[in-house]
Amino acid sequence: MLIAFQDRLRLPWRGGAKRISPAAVAPAFIVPLMLGLATLNSKTAVVLMLTLVGFTGWGMQVAKRTATRTNFFLSWVVFSVVYMIIIFEFQVPLLELSPEENYALMFFSCAALYCLYSTKALSSLNLVSAQYGTTPKDELPGIAEASSGEEQAEAQITLQMDSVLDVDEMVDDSSERVDLMHGQPNICESCRKVTPRRAYHCPICGTCVKRRDHHSYWLNCCIGERNYVWYICGLILSEIALLLGANLTLTSICHPFMVVRPLGYPVLLPDDCSEVFESFELGISFVVACYALLISGYIAFILARQAYLWWKGSTLHEYKRSTHAAGRGNRIWSLWRAIIK
Ligand SMILES: [Zn+2]
Ligand SMILES: [Zn+2]
Repeated sequence: MLIAFQDRLRLPWRGGAKRISPAAVAPAFIVPLMLGLATLNSKTAVVLMLTLVGFTGWGMQVAKRTATRTNFFLSWVVFSVVYMIIIFEFQVPLLELSPEENYALMFFSCAALYCLYSTKALSSLNLVSAQYGTTPKDELPGIAEASSGEEQAEAQITLQMDSVLDVDEMVDDSSERVDLMHGQPNICESCRKVTPRRAYHCPICGTCVKRRDHHSYWLNCCIGERNYVWYICGLILSEIALLLGANLTLTSICHPFMVVRPLGYPVLLPDDCSEVFESFELGISFVVACYALLISGYIAFILARQAYLWWKGSTLHEYKRSTHAAGRGNRIWSLWRAIIK
């Protein structure tokens, strides 16, 4: 369906009609419709939130299976942020919030958006340029024409490795080369050239990426050498902004209670939220706060995964590949991979 939606729509524009993808526009309608319907009652809200998780998870699996480059998920992020800010600023009863609380939330939101924007803007610097290598000899026309016996042997070994991967992994990794022999060049079969160490091919970007971690569908770019730090900072700041926004919203519309009072500043948590579905204003604020908590849970999971990989000194790409190569826990790994990919 996503692929079918990828086809053309045109918008009248100065200097000629501008082509737009329906997949990039769809979230502008799906997100507010879903949030609006969820305000009806608590059961509808739970069903819609679960549907949302299932729908985005399924959409991402389809995009991964078909190695589709789509703006659908990036658009989803952009419109979710826009609607959350609008609801927070115009619906949540601001009288109960101090200006400092609002400024703090805006600061973290803007900082997070800047980091995520930089992640995307810098992603092109991760791509292995066509000129990589110091001599024309480095730009090999193909594996079959690899000049040395060692290169052909490496290509043969990696081809054998590919043959044991499952279909899903084939889409992701079929064309990358592993630095099996220390000091030997990596050769990418798809790009048909020598690539730097720890550079891996991304089938969605269609090129090799330096120190590739993974392809982020939510940002529609690869996370690698030059944008990894921005990506992690963006996630941490997003997590803070989402949790702060959800807390400020819920303690405004529900009956709050004080947890601690460090330095004379009360830290509140929501207590009784039973009356939030009695009006649309309270309902939409509550639903958006729950939506923010849902996203923050997902980001917390990604951050925990990245912390584990940092501790292991590996990228997500290398970790998945090494687990495959070791043949450990195939069934459990398949299930785990289906969740985290
Ligand atoms: Zn490549
Ligand atoms: Zn990519």
